[in-house]
Amino acid sequence: MSSLVEARGLKMYFPVGRTLTGKPRRVLKAVDDVSFSINKGETFGLVGESGCGKTTVGRSLVRLYEPTDGEILFDGQDIAHFSERQLVPCRRRMQMIFQDPYASLNPRMTVASIIAEPLRKSGLTTAEQQERVRALVDLVGLKPDHLQRYPHEFSGGQRQRVGIARALASEPDFIVCDEPISALDVSIQAQVINTLETLQEKLGLSYLFVSHDLSMVRHISHNVGVMYLGCMVERAPVDELYRRMLHPYTRALMSAVPIPDPDLAAASERIHLSGDVPTPIDPPSGCRFRARCPYATARCAQERPELREVAPNHFVACHLVQG
Ligand code: SF4
Repeated sequence: MSSLVEARGLKMYFPVGRTLTGKPRRVLKAVDDVSFSINKGETFGLVGESGCGKTTVGRSLVRLYEPTDGEILFDGQDIAHFSERQLVPCRRRMQMIFQDPYASLNPRMTVASIIAEPLRKSGLTTAEQQERVRALVDLVGLKPDHLQRYPHEFSGGQRQRVGIARALASEPDFIVCDEPISALDVSIQAQVINTLETLQEKLGLSYLFVSHDLSMVRHISHNVGVMYLGCMVERAPVDELYRRMLHPYTRALMSAVPIPDPDLAAASERIHLSGDVPTPIDPPSGCRFRARCPYATARCAQERPELREVAPNHFVACHLVQG
């Protein structure tokens, strides 16, 4: 399976405050040396608490940010430092859908205009654009009579479908789904996930699926990465990860959600996660999770654990986990 998108040693730092000479006072390390790849037609689930850097990773991959360091390979080309002009051919192929569909849709535009917006410079005639919009509405499970309505007339799930149709208008290969279902009712979440899966099958799409909830990414992801304070702490194919969570933070995240599968529940050790994620400005020395880790030792304060392969394709960054 070949990869469509790959992050290699991705770093995204933001300056915080300025001295009189214009130098940054401090640096916020939102993403600090993160690597993973997304295969064509597959989903990579990126999980972690709010503030761990997962949204910044997503935005960097579609080059809404220019990374501080590292490579972003898109279809084999390193686009990390491409200019806006160089990015033009890639922009169409990379799209994003957002957590709050209402905030991302112009309330004064009809659904037809919202979906047609990315087609304006496509070279299609008006009739061809209208035809394409009708096909997109059908593809995401909306009805033709929805086209002349406005976003406020829809439920949250329907609005998310409008957002998905708009993202699909430019016929992308890769979509960053940034918490796309966390604002929706639980009953609607599964429907939107099913739609995303069906579209992936039909169109061969690759997704980065960003979520704070490990149980949510399980059903849609082929591979999963867990982030903590800007770093990837565990990464594995989905079945391997859910069978054998090795990093204390991954286990703590899983402990926070009810496990309907009794075997899985019995096999998972519950770890209570106390306190908030520390700030990525001046993060702790050594392992960034040590302030909240029940197993931390003196070594954890001194040495930053490398992300090591401890089983085929299963990578963990913890001094206590042996291969
Ligand atoms: Fe906990 Fe130490 Fe492992 Fe970090 S390296 S997760 S502090 S045991």
